[in-house]
Amino acid sequence: MKKPTVVYKNVENFSFDNADVILYVQQNNPDDDHTVVNHLFRVHKAILSLHSHAFESMFLVPMPPVGSHSQQFHDGLLMFRMYDELKDVTDLLQTFYYPCSSAIIIPPHASDTPIRLRGLLNIAHKYQVNQLYEHIVTFIKADWPQTLPRWDFLDDIDRQRMLEPQTTLPWDPVLDDEQKMSEPAAAIHIAREFDIPEVLPAAFYHLARIEISCDYDEARQDLCPRSEHAARWGMLTPEDMNCLMRGKEEIASIMGHFVNQTRSKCCHPCKSSWEETLFMTNYGRDPLEVLRRFIRRYELCDVCRESLATRAMVKREEIWFKLPEIFHLPVVPPWCTDHF
Ligand SMILES: [Zn+2]
Repeated sequence: MKKPTVVYKNVENFSFDNADVILYVQQNNPDDDHTVVNHLFRVHKAILSLHSHAFESMFLVPMPPVGSHSQQFHDGLLMFRMYDELKDVTDLLQTFYYPCSSAIIIPPHASDTPIRLRGLLNIAHKYQVNQLYEHIVTFIKADWPQTLPRWDFLDDIDRQRMLEPQTTLPWDPVLDDEQKMSEPAAAIHIAREFDIPEVLPAAFYHLARIEISCDYDEARQDLCPRSEHAARWGMLTPEDMNCLMRGKEEIASIMGHFVNQTRSKCCHPCKSSWEETLFMTNYGRDPLEVLRRFIRRYELCDVCRESLATRAMVKREEIWFKLPEIFHLPVVPPWCTDHF
């Protein structure tokens, strides 16, 4: 078979005159069967070593002389092939050389964050760019609260967006995403892949609030009501779906028990008013919200209302602390599962 012709192409913004090493990514030329393109990054060993232990170790290995068969040279510089996506290598080097204009500028609560950063997170992990890796993980975690007050804070912002959708009109996916509570399926996917268990409890709880008919891509095309949350259902594994179903069942059971308990504790007049109320129809969908907000609206006597409010606050904290257990998730350090 004919050996392909190699075409060399400098990558824009990464072709420094005083470079002392070349990294390259090889791609087949889509226009021609017999050529491959080597995309060259003419960069500096010192900069690469500063950010990455892997590069540092690679450059410490004694190099054979120019002309040796075991190494590839181009324009007198040693070349290292990167078996990664061109975009990921570009994004990684962008963070080294141009941090202010790079992919690490991450807007909060953007539903695309896990998808946009997956490649960069992967390559940062592979080349041991530890600071960058930790930076990205911190941002991903920040979108998924690990405490109940933080959850309430972000949920309030989210509700405000739903109550005043005109603030996000006209439909602008970028703007809207920045104001929307993050999409959970992509977050779950990246959390499983890179072992970020702190993301999972809040992401699964949020997922459990979403109707299965609310597909993220359809919502973006305005085929779902604007106020609905949506999920990329296709990104979930069978294991994720199993966790979701078990969690929904468990939440329904916890809330069913709570309702029965309340019924038994109320005084006689309040009991009948409680029975007549339809408010609990969907209590299992978002118990953290039901127990915080709606519970104070019922027409009960002062004693029963006070008792219910106190028990509701305790119950919602209990639900929050038990989220990893409820959804059958890995144990998460910040969650104190033996709290109750
Ligand atoms: Zn009463």
